[in-house]
Amino acid sequence: MAQPDFKKEAEAIFDEMVATRRDFHQHPELGFQEVRTSRIVADRLTELGLEVQRGVAQTGVVGLLEGRKPGPTVMMRFDMDALPIHEENDVPYKSKNPGVMHACGHDAHTAMGLGMAKIMSKYQDRIAGTLKFVFQPAEEGGAGGAFAMIADGALENPKPDVAFAMHVWNPVPYGRVRVVEGPCMASSSVFTLTVEGKGGHGAAPHLAVDPILAAAHIVAALQSIVSRNINPQDSVVVSIGQFSAGSTFNVIPDRAILKGTVRSYNTELHRKIYRRILEMATSMADAFSCKATMETVAIVAPVVNAPEPTAVVRHAAEAIVGADKIDEHRTMAAEDMGFFLEEVPGCYFFIGASNDEKGLNYPQHHAKFDIDERAMINGVTIMANAVAHYVMNGH
Ligand SMILES: [Zn+2]
Ligand SMILES: [Zn+2]
Repeated sequence: MAQPDFKKEAEAIFDEMVATRRDFHQHPELGFQEVRTSRIVADRLTELGLEVQRGVAQTGVVGLLEGRKPGPTVMMRFDMDALPIHEENDVPYKSKNPGVMHACGHDAHTAMGLGMAKIMSKYQDRIAGTLKFVFQPAEEGGAGGAFAMIADGALENPKPDVAFAMHVWNPVPYGRVRVVEGPCMASSSVFTLTVEGKGGHGAAPHLAVDPILAAAHIVAALQSIVSRNINPQDSVVVSIGQFSAGSTFNVIPDRAILKGTVRSYNTELHRKIYRRILEMATSMADAFSCKATMETVAIVAPVVNAPEPTAVVRHAAEAIVGADKIDEHRTMAAEDMGFFLEEVPGCYFFIGASNDEKGLNYPQHHAKFDIDERAMINGVTIMANAVAHYVMNGH
């Protein structure tokens, strides 16, 4: 029996996916607060006849679709959380939750997940294996949603044999797809450096120990790590995004606080960078008679795509958008799908979603972010074909 025409299936539910996505867009919820979103997800999966587990890692949902015959367990993961951003789009489906916005496209991911469930449940009779739909809370900002779901048993009963996830991605135009074997998104972590000095009057600096001056030197020095300590063949980022110190112009404060992020494609490199940050910060602080301490948190594993599932996705993508519309760029952005892919081989891929002509070309996390919703057809079609490769037609 030929494989179903999943493109046709996705097109048939396009209006429904758009309505679902826009509903989520209007009602965005922050990480671990996706109460409304996860209730809708769980209710719809239940209606479709899936076996549904609610409250996995607070607001996560897991749905199982058992095929009629035994076979592998294929996991699909969709994230549901929004961002603390005030939407500046003037659209009928604008966020009704001030200060909260789906500015990363997770509304589309959740809608695609429900679309996938609807399509695949139609073919339950032909499925040999189990489909595991994982709707994840709190992906953004290293909030730990994936990790929490794994800790709460999302990868057990049954354990998936292969896992897929995708992101609608505005750096890539609609009609194109990005899929790359091996590391594709960076490992990410946050660090805080506290530089302690001794406060005093700005007019009598000799009686104080100035932590701002020491911290300024640390910021400059840290930028030499990538250029002087790391192999130029390796991709690494060290960025300071926050420098806080003082409260007025004529007072030398007691301390300065620096916050930044490190990105790389492997954990070993990450450790090496942190050793250098600590060495530099402490010795530089020392040189200015200050004291520096460091805290690091929220390390997200790199996203590493396994060869076989990646080839399957690539093949599916070629059939839908054409081989010339696929690229293999990697990004230093991070994504906690990396935690799932540490446990289960799989593929994480990017669906081009921007459209210059329609003005839908703001980057992810921008207050005017929006997508060409037709990207959802490409996403669902490619994922359905990849999943079918494992559970349909005697595979
Ligand atoms: Zn994001
Ligand atoms: Zn995202």
